[in-house]
Amino acid sequence: MQKPRPPGALAAVALILGLALPGLASPHPAGAQGGTMALVGGMLLDGYETPPIHHAAVVIEGNRIVAVGPATEVEIPAGAEIISTEGMTMLPGLVDLHVHLMILGHGEYSEWWPILDKAREEMMAISAKQLLLAGVTTAVDLGAPMEILNVRDDINEGRLQGPRMLVSGPWITRAGRQWPDWFQRRIASPEEAAEQTDDLIGAGVDVIKIWAGMTEDDMRAVVEAAHRRGVEVHTHLYAPEDMWAAIRAGTDVIQHAGSGGNPPYGEDLIAEVAHRGIPVVQTIAHRIWVYPATLEFPERLQDRRLKEDLPPDLYREFQRSFEDFHRNSYFRTTPRQIRNSEIAARQFIEGGAVIAMGTDSGSPMNFHTEAAWREISALVDSGMTPLAAISASTKTGAEVIGRGRDLGTIEPGKLADIIVVEGNPLFDINVLGYVRMVVKDGVRYK
Ligand SMILES: [Zn+2]
Repeated sequence: MQKPRPPGALAAVALILGLALPGLASPHPAGAQGGTMALVGGMLLDGYETPPIHHAAVVIEGNRIVAVGPATEVEIPAGAEIISTEGMTMLPGLVDLHVHLMILGHGEYSEWWPILDKAREEMMAISAKQLLLAGVTTAVDLGAPMEILNVRDDINEGRLQGPRMLVSGPWITRAGRQWPDWFQRRIASPEEAAEQTDDLIGAGVDVIKIWAGMTEDDMRAVVEAAHRRGVEVHTHLYAPEDMWAAIRAGTDVIQHAGSGGNPPYGEDLIAEVAHRGIPVVQTIAHRIWVYPATLEFPERLQDRRLKEDLPPDLYREFQRSFEDFHRNSYFRTTPRQIRNSEIAARQFIEGGAVIAMGTDSGSPMNFHTEAAWREISALVDSGMTPLAAISASTKTGAEVIGRGRDLGTIEPGKLADIIVVEGNPLFDINVLGYVRMVVKDGVRYK
């Protein structure tokens, strides 16, 4: 099955950076797909907002779930591999609707791009593995160079470890002068916006991402071109007038919505989003929760998974980038955002909008290894019950990307994407940080 990959890339990077790159993720997971497996004994949260099933059993045949219920009532086929989940909690694999494989939490973007440029696919592969091992079994990447299509395909075909990926490739923008053009398509008219949309879809992207600076006509042109080919448009938004423009233009998913750090939006805007049922992916944790968490516990920056995955010199470069992080450009306005968040982070939740989970993972200090549980924890801090936050991060996420029939819940007929965490997330949502097992597509990875 192993498709030959150009062998030179890793070695070339090592040479340029003067590093010894460790081997990338071994594609060989712990269990083989195809047999019958039963996860038995733990509490089960199935992704719906219903009470848990205690001492449950889930039977998986090949890559599908075939039976779910209390262990005393579920018949476990003879010859099934039985995996004990006693004392733990089983839940659907997490669906993160806003990740960036091209970044890994380095403290300063401008210093990161030249490093990334020498090892684009290798760095994205590391991110993908980190996400999967953190319990994210499905992810939408909203901004990356075109090589992400190779990474996505390598994951799907079993050559790399990672979540099921939907990818936008480069985003479309009128702004972005500060970014390298290998992960964005800059346009100057609605016609160009439509052309770029067609081009990206033709190249094989799964979704379109609109970044900042677009006019309403630009957005409409993108939406028309994308919808003609059955592709959804995710829009990066902060200012209220941009939100209104995106709603009128018919974009499908609102991303960021100010990340909960903007001054509060008007009630009419919140009500419009809620009534139209436009999904909101707020990405509230990445500055507002991560920054104070790091002030309190800077030890988190010495992430053990990151140390294991990166060459030593590069790991040291990351640590250097975190020195005096409060001065880094990414956190320039974070204290004000934190004050705003007292109201803004809860607005869409309290206003009854469709909430899904996304993290902007890979942004400075927002590691793939923990972005998902931090975001879910922040949703709970902002007014969701743990059960609702878990459902938003599994069932709703799958529905938003049109995969609700196959993914997002643990029930017979669905694809077997299941994670097992230590303890009870309904008592303490932060136990989602203690992922002990990951099953994706019927294959056990951890
Ligand atoms: Zn982003």
